[in-house]
Amino acid sequence: MSTNTSMNPAELADVRRHLDVAAIGSELYARVERLYPICRSITGHGVRETLRLIGQEIDLAITEVPSGTQVFDWAVPPEWNIRDGYVKNSSGEKIVDFAASNLHVLNYSIPVHRKITLAELQPHLFSIPDRPDWVPYKTSYYSPNWGFCLTDRQRQALKDDEYEVCIDASLEDGHLTFAECVLPGQSDSEVFFSCHICHPSLCNDNLSGISVAVTLAKLLARTARKYSYRFLFIPGTIGAITWLALNEETTRKITHGLVLSGLGDPGRITYKRSRRANAEIDRVVAHVLQTSGDPHDIQDFSPYGYDERQYCSPGFNLPVGVLSRTPHGRYPEYHTSADNLDLVRPASLTDSLLKALSIVEVVEGNGVYTNRNPKGEPQLGRRGLYSTMGGHGDSRSREEALLWVLNLSDGSHTLLDIAERSQLPFDVIRQVASTLQQHELLSETS
Ligand code: ZN
Repeated sequence: MSTNTSMNPAELADVRRHLDVAAIGSELYARVERLYPICRSITGHGVRETLRLIGQEIDLAITEVPSGTQVFDWAVPPEWNIRDGYVKNSSGEKIVDFAASNLHVLNYSIPVHRKITLAELQPHLFSIPDRPDWVPYKTSYYSPNWGFCLTDRQRQALKDDEYEVCIDASLEDGHLTFAECVLPGQSDSEVFFSCHICHPSLCNDNLSGISVAVTLAKLLARTARKYSYRFLFIPGTIGAITWLALNEETTRKITHGLVLSGLGDPGRITYKRSRRANAEIDRVVAHVLQTSGDPHDIQDFSPYGYDERQYCSPGFNLPVGVLSRTPHGRYPEYHTSADNLDLVRPASLTDSLLKALSIVEVVEGNGVYTNRNPKGEPQLGRRGLYSTMGGHGDSRSREEALLWVLNLSDGSHTLLDIAERSQLPFDVIRQVASTLQQHELLSETS
């Protein structure tokens, strides 16, 4: 290997190339399995338990923000915790049981314990007639309500009867919990990854993003870094708004960012651009996906989706896009019990992680260089840089890359500019730039 090992990105590229893909797939999937049973919400012990488990793998700084704290136009809500929930018929049989699935209770339900008729129960039931065997995931964070989610088949079987409904939950002054993993680099400028941690037993929506983020943080912790990295694990919406309200100074350091969510389903990888549309991260991800040879989609920003809504609100307008596979709401299993351990695949999780690593490699490796022999081409053959045989395949694209880098390195084009214009993979462009540096034909422009 002739690559310059003193350059960070070469190390990172080596990490990616030498990954044991099967082992990484098992690790990513096992983490989803481990976190799956926990009943999470936007506050409460489920979030803490999730962070405790993640904290066994990466260094986390946990912040607890008291209920009632004003965060921009919002206030941190009371903390919700649930112990049990069920609907019993008059024979005492539990026909809906929180112990069987945490999706059965409307998330953030107020406590209730009473006997009611079927007609009184019906407005508190949620099912999906089109998908009679799936349980929907429903929440009521900001309007006090109680309810049960069940399969439509269960619901249609309900008879006129007296039902005992019980939700043993508490909504009390407490805290909203979030966590950060910060990996300092040579620069204070930050690459920012955010994923939500507020969904209960759902795999693709929520757990896939968490799992990819944790492995990515573990891998980056082992490599030299030009940028600093911040991984944020927060409850959706209110968590992101709370973090922004408490960290306005920090947001100024965010140079590139991605929301990670929905990264485990078998669909094609999808990138949703930041509100800026042409931020460096937008160009980096587009380049990585376009040169990957894999099917992919690139979509424009819209103020609908995950926490990019907050990061890209006009008062922040951060360069933060969204990396997912099938976008939220575009797969039938979304927000139902069918977003389970069968929907997410080790291979999809691994592919998402590799794409994220490739994105980081470009971000880390991008820079501006100046050709030190700009008058005519330098004689490459004499330096052993140019095949005497007329190249083909890989060596040909390497030689094209040499000429592109020498030609466009005039102190104003970045390596990403050159990769885009030449349509050659960034990795090839960067390796060639490193080689030209070793031969003193190129110098980095500060
Ligand atoms: Zn969701």
